[in-house]
Amino acid sequence: MFETVIGLEVHVQLNTKTKLFCSCPTSFAAHQNINTCPTCLALPGALPVVNKEAAIKAMRLGYAINGNVNHSSNFDRKSYFYPDSPSAYQITQLTKAIVQKGELFIDLKDGTQKRIGMTQAHLEADAGKNIHEGNYSKIDLNRSGTPLLEIVSDPDMRNSDEAVAYLKKLHSTVRYLDISDANMQEGSFRCDVNVSIRPQGQKEFGTRVEIKNINSFKFVAAAIAYEVQRQTEAYEDGVYEQDVRQETRLWSVADGFTKSMRSKEEAADYRYFPDPDLRPLIVTQEMIDEAKIMPELPDVKVKRYVEEFGIKPDDAKVITSDKEMAYYFEEMLEQGAVAKTAVTWLTSELLGRLNKSGLSIEKSPVNAKTLGVLVSKISDDTVSGKGAKDVLDYMMKNTSRDIVMIIDELGLAQVSDDGAILAIIDEILSQNQDKVEQYKSGKDKLFGFFVGQTMKASKGTANPTKVNELLKERLG
Ligand code: ADP
Ligand code: MG
Ligand code: ZN
Repeated sequence: MFETVIGLEVHVQLNTKTKLFCSCPTSFAAHQNINTCPTCLALPGALPVVNKEAAIKAMRLGYAINGNVNHSSNFDRKSYFYPDSPSAYQITQLTKAIVQKGELFIDLKDGTQKRIGMTQAHLEADAGKNIHEGNYSKIDLNRSGTPLLEIVSDPDMRNSDEAVAYLKKLHSTVRYLDISDANMQEGSFRCDVNVSIRPQGQKEFGTRVEIKNINSFKFVAAAIAYEVQRQTEAYEDGVYEQDVRQETRLWSVADGFTKSMRSKEEAADYRYFPDPDLRPLIVTQEMIDEAKIMPELPDVKVKRYVEEFGIKPDDAKVITSDKEMAYYFEEMLEQGAVAKTAVTWLTSELLGRLNKSGLSIEKSPVNAKTLGVLVSKISDDTVSGKGAKDVLDYMMKNTSRDIVMIIDELGLAQVSDDGAILAIIDEILSQNQDKVEQYKSGKDKLFGFFVGQTMKASKGTANPTKVNELLKERLG
């Protein structure tokens, strides 16, 4: 039996206005090579200056993960030649990162939490992009010098579920902190997966393989599964030493397997040395104060939702896993929606409809205010639960308008008025004299029939509690 060991390195593109060492904008430019200057083009003599906003955002992550935020950290040069890196080195933080140590807690399937240690988070500059078109390769340096935060975990994960749970937690955390849009398709949240195996009980780690730049949670799980099997088979076949080497591999989406890219470089290969153009990054009190401005994070939210609103921990976890959803939920409550009802209407009614239309909650045609009001109208008996579903269907297709107006227009206003309901009941009873006789002579089951008929005659608008009450009264 073997144990899997996983450590993750995540590159998060920070959402700063300008690049890490120059004042070029980080926005996607329409034209290639527009967002460039002598510094990010690495022209001789141009000097880098650290972006304060990037440092503050890195520090904010540090505080959020309980890490040590270094008040002085260093920048180093990592030398390598790539066509999309005009300086032939990357500026990174090797010897002293801005954040060291830290932790994240992941939720396991059995309901418990597991602590995953974090090694460090360091600032570094991104490279440009190579674009291959027909017989040409072009270079776009708009991305050159964009700030990245590389977040390195300890080798604390033991299977792909834990790795994916960690990634999702980190993804949601950086989004709550608003330090990155963390868009995986666009590459602003990319992940390197380190995987090794060892015989159960063995203390030393096995040889790790690094799988580079995976951009979806699904591929992370698939790449781990493939690698674990490859390494296990090598072990069992007695060729572990030969076949499992410390190397960088690529996940091939098309093939569904990993393949060797290059043998793992040693630090010496990169000729790391302190960047002589950059002095230590010194953190000021003002920066600390700003970095500590923190939103309520998911773990705290879950606890509060459970204690304050009495909702189930599992529901609270689903809602808080995504900041947009949590904020949507909180806005619904501000409109007077009852928490437990709001949970159902958000997680099943709204999300169900959004999934069907392939929309994210940010793109929901029904905003939180509107859904909150609708849910409050169920509780105060303006509309029935069933009627509210029709209202929601209607609103998904039509731009938000006043809910009460829509309820009226669709003829869905719930009737709770005794007189109106009694009129319907009397009508039903007089049409079904025979059944009334049978009921009175002991056929209790017919009560349901009368309720059904009354609801039907009211087109579902009669308040069912009232219908029950009044029918009992009438039938004695
Ligand atoms: P590099 O930048 O060379 O890949 P780092 O030290 O920055 O090296 O990152 C190493 C990553 O690999 C960390 O996430 C760490 O947890 C993980 N790791 C280290 N040893 C192992 C191992 N034996 N098995 C799996 N993961 C490992
Ligand atoms: Mg690595
Ligand atoms: Zn620039």
